[in-house]
Amino acid sequence: MGICNNPFTDDVNALSDEDFVLLKYAVATRRCYEKTGFSTYTELVENYRLIRPCPRCGSDEYIKNGKTPAGHQRYICKKCDLEYSTLTGTIFEHSKKDLCDWVNFVTMMCHNVQVEAAADMCEISHKTAFEWRHRVLATVSDYQKRTMLKKRVWIDETYLEDSALLSQPDWQPKRGLSKNKICIAVAIDVFKNPYAVICGHGKPSSKRIKDALQNHIEEGSVIVHDKERAHNALIKAIAGVDESYKADTKDANYLEGMQMVNNLCSWLKYYLRRFPGMKQENLQHYLDWFVYLFRVTKDKEKWTKVERVLRHLALSETTFRSSWT
Ligand SMILES: [Zn+2]
Repeated sequence: MGICNNPFTDDVNALSDEDFVLLKYAVATRRCYEKTGFSTYTELVENYRLIRPCPRCGSDEYIKNGKTPAGHQRYICKKCDLEYSTLTGTIFEHSKKDLCDWVNFVTMMCHNVQVEAAADMCEISHKTAFEWRHRVLATVSDYQKRTMLKKRVWIDETYLEDSALLSQPDWQPKRGLSKNKICIAVAIDVFKNPYAVICGHGKPSSKRIKDALQNHIEEGSVIVHDKERAHNALIKAIAGVDESYKADTKDANYLEGMQMVNNLCSWLKYYLRRFPGMKQENLQHYLDWFVYLFRVTKDKEKWTKVERVLRHLALSETTFRSSWT
């Protein structure tokens, strides 16, 4: 439909600035509802959490106590008298923006759009966009702790240049090339569950590999790897079955045998390149988010990606540190 055939064009052009803002919000709210099934925080949170446990004592015995000025249900805990609302303890608490802004922002985070671009598209300040990203990342910060890979597990390491990726004003190259590289231990099982964790600097020792992966691979699993000796202690520790391929990118056997984990490493590197200048202490959070999205995508027959992330955010009780960048 061309703009001259649009019966709303004249009316919209005639609106005052204030009315135009109201119209934009009405349209955005409807789009949000059509996309997610929710148009307000209360609808979102109450859909997934019928019972609101007390954020202080955990009791689920409460009295409903009217609504906040923003329209969120207020509760008083019967045990400890704490007054709280639907949003207390969720990442949406104290947010002055509407749910539709969050939905747009989360959608962009699912596509790993750079934070400045996301701020622009959502019409929020850079400061708010950084804050929101930290809140979202905080909800997945212990996501990998429960990961347990099974049956057939590929393992490998991938390396990042400190200087290329990380912003460290006092950064000095260390002696020996490999010491300047951060090692990330990666693993993926036959069910396509991934795992990725920082594993120190430079080529890892047996102990570092064992410490990084031992608690996340089920005993007796087949460990598929590239004959790296540092893997042996891990395989022994989990009573694993050793299946190894000599690393040789011209060897079809190696490529096929290691394809699962080689692909994972490529995706991971591609993903991390989108966040130049991150602080080293935040790298693990980005790895957690990568693994989280990887698994969300895998389960997409059950939920759309954004819907699933929203559900996760609504259920999460993570507190976040505001000093992250
Ligand atoms: Zn309480």
